[in-house]
Amino acid sequence: MARVVVLGGGIAGHTAALHLSRMLRRSDEVVVVTPNSQWNWIPSNIWVGVGKMKTEQVTFKLAPIYKRRGIGYEQALTTVIHPEGDASHQSPYVELRYTDPARSGEHGELAYDYLINATGPKLNFGATPGLGPDGHSSSVCTPGHAVQASAALQESIAKMRRGQHQTLVVGMGHGTCTCEGAAFEYAFNVEHEVRQAGVRALADIVYLTNEYELGDFGVGGLTFTQQGFQTTSKLWTESLFRERGIRAVTGAHVTGVEEGAVHYEQLDGTINSLAFDFAMLLPPFGGVPLKAFDKEGGDIGSELFAPSGFMKVDADYTAKPFDEWRAEDWPRTYQVPAYPNIFAVGIAFAPPHQISQPRTSPNGTVITPAPPRTGMPSGIMGKLAATNIVAMIEKGDAVEIRSGSMADMAAACVASAGSGLRHGSAASMTMYPVVPDFQKYPGTGRSLGDTFGEIGLAGHWIKLALHYLFLYKAKARPGWHLIPE
Ligand SMILES: Cc1cc2nc3c(=O)[nH]c(=O)nc-3n(C[C@H](O)[C@H](O)[C@H](O)COP(=O)(O)OP(=O)(O)OC[C@H]3O[C@@H](n4cnc5c(N)ncnc54)[C@H](O)[C@@H]3O)c2cc1C
Repeated sequence: MARVVVLGGGIAGHTAALHLSRMLRRSDEVVVVTPNSQWNWIPSNIWVGVGKMKTEQVTFKLAPIYKRRGIGYEQALTTVIHPEGDASHQSPYVELRYTDPARSGEHGELAYDYLINATGPKLNFGATPGLGPDGHSSSVCTPGHAVQASAALQESIAKMRRGQHQTLVVGMGHGTCTCEGAAFEYAFNVEHEVRQAGVRALADIVYLTNEYELGDFGVGGLTFTQQGFQTTSKLWTESLFRERGIRAVTGAHVTGVEEGAVHYEQLDGTINSLAFDFAMLLPPFGGVPLKAFDKEGGDIGSELFAPSGFMKVDADYTAKPFDEWRAEDWPRTYQVPAYPNIFAVGIAFAPPHQISQPRTSPNGTVITPAPPRTGMPSGIMGKLAATNIVAMIEKGDAVEIRSGSMADMAAACVASAGSGLRHGSAASMTMYPVVPDFQKYPGTGRSLGDTFGEIGLAGHWIKLALHYLFLYKAKARPGWHLIPE
């Protein structure tokens, strides 16, 4: 009998747990440790943030699904990993702190044979003074944040209805943020809502981003063929910003947010401020705080985790200049080299380097998007780890491990630009590979035939269809496993 423990019930961890429940032998066990009682389809938080959806439409309770699938469930935060056990534990184990209201604050321990770390991001609002819902700006990272953002936005819309001018700022709350796609979507959804409310003329909408140029999205931008001509995500998004009248401030590192004002430094070294009535600024991501100790109780945190807090896996983390990195530097199996029974997937693994060209202001401030690990790759990695663990359990550790590098993986992303069955629109993008491979695809680093972008109403329908499809899949309804990640 083997026990697989999955840390994190988000996109990567929940996908891994469902596949494990399908593939493991009856005698084996899968247990999810996650602090949340609800699963959240995070991409649709954008629509909660503009009042188009309710939290109940983007969440569901995990416990009944896990009960039905025979998955163990501990509603708790993992705090410590002991990959070798210790003086009083023969086997590897994790320490937990319960968030389950019935056991809140209690300490627990859980032994494992295989571990999947899918703990996602720490929303690091603390990196920027005054950033976030506990400070002076809104967020859409969680359903609760999104409800708060929607209320603040409605207040601004109400003021515009009374004839007051409003400045609405949407973007990134730090120079090293990732997830530009989400901020981009939210900016266009806000613009759409304001237009639908008939008060567009009274709104100055500003997109404040750490991207060097629009359309970078943390992946160094995209080049693709459209109607027989090559175009770029820069041209494409710039034209959308122009069409919708959204002003963009690029290459910006937010240094602080106070009541009604955001302060930022730009890549040219200038220090600027912008007064706002409503601001939704995403935080930078870090790894969640986890400790790790060896058998003797020695701290092995720096061996297991990068300084960012993300877990180091089978990537090449050698420091090298940006133009010397190669697609092969990216992880293939997401296994921790020293502990092959530990995998880190989704946002939890440490990327070996930036995908967007790193840039620094003359004052030495790094202003560069961090590499995104979006939903589709996160789900694929979760399934991959599950598949490899099942093979290891059945055939032993010497089994050939399947690989799935982001440098050999496609991703599709549909960025909503406004909700509505007749008037909605979305920017649909596919890229292959996610991490450019300049040896294989000289010039753009990606296959022109498999990289694609399109804006229109059809994109909104696709985004809405994906919302229902992924909720269906995550609820493990009949045939769920046939729906791709
Ligand atoms: C506003 C927003 C919009 C987005 N839109 C899109 C989109 O349109 N398309 C797209 O592809 N991607 C989108 N993304 C990105 C997508 O949400 C992430 O790629 C995806 O959620 C990553 O999956 P994950 O499992 O790594 O992390 P998560 O889904 O965040 O899951 C992490 C889980 O770990 C749990 N956890 C945290 N700490 C611990 C701990 N100590 N112990 C145990 N569990 C822990 C968390 O509670 C959570 O359940 C968006 C992100 C945001 C913030």
